[in-house]
Amino acid sequence: MFSFEFFPPRGPKSQARLWRAIREIEALGPSFVSVTYGAGGGTRDLTVETTERIATDTTLLPVAHMTLVDHSVAELRHLIGRLSDAGVSNMLAVRGDPPGDPTGEWVRHPRGLTYAEELVRLLKDSGDFSVGVAAFPYKHPRSADVETDTDHFVRKCEAGADYAITQMFFEVEDYLRLRDRVAARGCGVPIIPEVFPVVKLASIPHSEKLSGAPFPPALAERYASLGDDADAVRSFGVEYAQRMCERLLAEGAPGIHFITFNQSTATREIYREVAPGKPAGGAGRP
Ligand code: FAD
Repeated sequence: MFSFEFFPPRGPKSQARLWRAIREIEALGPSFVSVTYGAGGGTRDLTVETTERIATDTTLLPVAHMTLVDHSVAELRHLIGRLSDAGVSNMLAVRGDPPGDPTGEWVRHPRGLTYAEELVRLLKDSGDFSVGVAAFPYKHPRSADVETDTDHFVRKCEAGADYAITQMFFEVEDYLRLRDRVAARGCGVPIIPEVFPVVKLASIPHSEKLSGAPFPPALAERYASLGDDADAVRSFGVEYAQRMCERLLAEGAPGIHFITFNQSTATREIYREVAPGKPAGGAGRP
């Protein structure tokens, strides 16, 4: 199972770039593509519009991310209905972070939900949806330790999740440890590793923010040793991510979920190497 993640466009230029990337990915026949949901504000409608358009205008299977931020249960139900009307039956249920400062205090909407686990239940009670959830190889930054993090993850799976996608990580062992912790609790939900090829030095701090963990020091040193040679940084980043994918698949990972940041070139190169000759995807469920 191979999939690609996009974020909603922020303007006409970004819209054109996104659709170029979507069409390039469509030609590869991935299992599904997903579109992230903003923490608030104007991009939310764009997520829904983009997901609807993928469902109606492409051969791709779309997965809509949904979050709890600033939404009442009634609004979440409305969103589920709108996506469903457009033929979208695959959702990724995540809580989302507080808008502004993602590390700030989580404030539940007065008529909303607190944990992703509750959104999984809402979706499963609302219809025949395939529901994915988030998993955190380094533990979620708000969790006290990996054990409680794993307990909460397993509860989310028991609420009805069909599969999970991890946060980005940079050492295969971190994924394997997460998988083993979850399996040790008797939970067999497939966990798809998310891979982000770092092809620019500027992406390192961004990846730390997203992953919630420091970039591995030895890897950071390797990147730093390439200095300002943008081509060398790119080649190394693609090769490193490709080796990660190969090892993850050899270790039995159920697939790879690629972060594209709406630029498909690096992820397409890696996909071609790690998934040669795979049958076209989009069979209806991730
Ligand atoms: P939860 O599962 O609700 O967990 C949040 C915290 O609460 C964790 O520390 C957990 O251990 C704890 N917890 C869970 N259940 C309980 C419980 N019953 N009692 C006590 N504590 C509990 N964000 C966006 O805004 N938009 C997106 O589109 C988006 N897509 C993502 C896709 C992936 C693959 C991943 C990995 C993350 C994504 N995120 C997105 C980020 C995500 O919203 C944040 O990381 C968020 O802080 C956690 O979401 P969650 O679904 O894991 O939350």
